[in-house]
Amino acid sequence: MADQSMRRKINRNTALAVPLVLFGLIGYVTYVVVDGLCVDYLLKPALELELTRRPRTATVILVLYFVLLLLWLTPYVRIIQVIHSNPGYIPKAKRPAFGGNQVGGDAQSFSRSCAPQQVGENLQEETRPNGSVGYDGLKSHEDIDRNAILNGQEAPPPGLDYFYTKDAFVCDYRGLPIFCTQCWNWKFDRTHHCSEVGRCVRRMDHFCPWVGGIVSETNMKFFLQLLFYGAFLNAYILIVFAYFLKERQDKTDTVDTHWAVACGLAGIFFFFASGMFGSTIQMLRHNLTTVENLTKSSKIHYVAVFLHNQRLTTSGETPHVFNYQTITYPLVSETTSHSKGPSPNLRTFAILETDPGANLWDLGPTANLQSIFGYTIWDWLLPYRYSPCCSHDPARSEFQFGPKFEELKKAYGILPPGKNRCRHSRNRSTQVEHSNTSNNKTTDSYEMGVLADEMRRKSTDDRTKKKERRDLRRRSYSDQV
Ligand SMILES: [Zn+2]
Repeated sequence: MADQSMRRKINRNTALAVPLVLFGLIGYVTYVVVDGLCVDYLLKPALELELTRRPRTATVILVLYFVLLLLWLTPYVRIIQVIHSNPGYIPKAKRPAFGGNQVGGDAQSFSRSCAPQQVGENLQEETRPNGSVGYDGLKSHEDIDRNAILNGQEAPPPGLDYFYTKDAFVCDYRGLPIFCTQCWNWKFDRTHHCSEVGRCVRRMDHFCPWVGGIVSETNMKFFLQLLFYGAFLNAYILIVFAYFLKERQDKTDTVDTHWAVACGLAGIFFFFASGMFGSTIQMLRHNLTTVENLTKSSKIHYVAVFLHNQRLTTSGETPHVFNYQTITYPLVSETTSHSKGPSPNLRTFAILETDPGANLWDLGPTANLQSIFGYTIWDWLLPYRYSPCCSHDPARSEFQFGPKFEELKKAYGILPPGKNRCRHSRNRSTQVEHSNTSNNKTTDSYEMGVLADEMRRKSTDDRTKKKERRDLRRRSYSDQV
């Protein structure tokens, strides 16, 4: 704990110091460009150098330099302003002193989860009923007790309604949103807990000492503009000084040390800014943050998807025949703790599991970039408006889902709103387990199992055919070679 606090202190001080160093370097380079190059060399060259005055060249160099400097400085100032005014932090809640929010005061029933391991970003692995391993969003034995919450024995921490009023949200395999035990809050989709600042941050990308804080959804666009204009500015300084260093050496056989230092600094920052810009754009083309990019090929998500067409609690209505679990909100523990109010509308969600590495938010390269930069050329070039992805739709999902999400729903047989139920499900008897104490309902009847097997077989057949076609193409290509 002491180490973590010390680390945070060091990071905070670094984040304050690095921008000051950067401003110092820019001040130095500006001094070399204006005084060392334009005044002392082009406008008023020393007599011993025997050079002619070149006021036009000096003017062009200065105008271009200050235009590029202004273009670079504007997003920089904007980032720093956003980091201090709207960094994308999720409000912290107060952790209960002991025992969580028990319903009915049954202290004996309050048992802490004891899931053993921890994986990645506050997520803890837990063996699921089917024997595989999944993420439960648990951190330690001090975590919330999800079993007690689902069984109605403990009221959940506040804020769940934000999730189940949407049509879909990321959850654990039992349908509860991911929880951060350090901030004591439910984590919105794509939120990451940043250990450097000790806060959950919406669509966090990384902690950047160069800008003195977190790069997240609120300033990612400005960060990219900073890199883009920074690369141009440094390339310009590099070219100008490289040219005049060569010219001076040829004409006067002297080397100005300050010019050489400015040229070297510009070279370093050019490669840094352009490399960072290129790699970040590459990730954004796939709608990935730096954090998400680390697990892009292995990450499995669970998504709770609102069932528009299913009425699981009405007799005669048939649920879908596919093998998924459901959860109904508000939870029993929520309705118990608010029993005096009007009875809430129940909303049932299917809990779907993605394939490893499936990116649900990939909208296609152009739409992905537009979700960061905006829709007009001015949005792309000027650090004025926030990114469109900062607007979170209160009814649908935290971030817009892409084709992979539709494929996932289709694979589980979930139809879009307004469509009739799947033909397989017609005239079949409802076999849904209901429990008064649990919100989990399983839809795995024998017939459902058979049909799900059929679906899986069909999917396997499709994959086999694709593989055969691919092998055939490869063989024919090898033959040609
Ligand atoms: Zn957190």
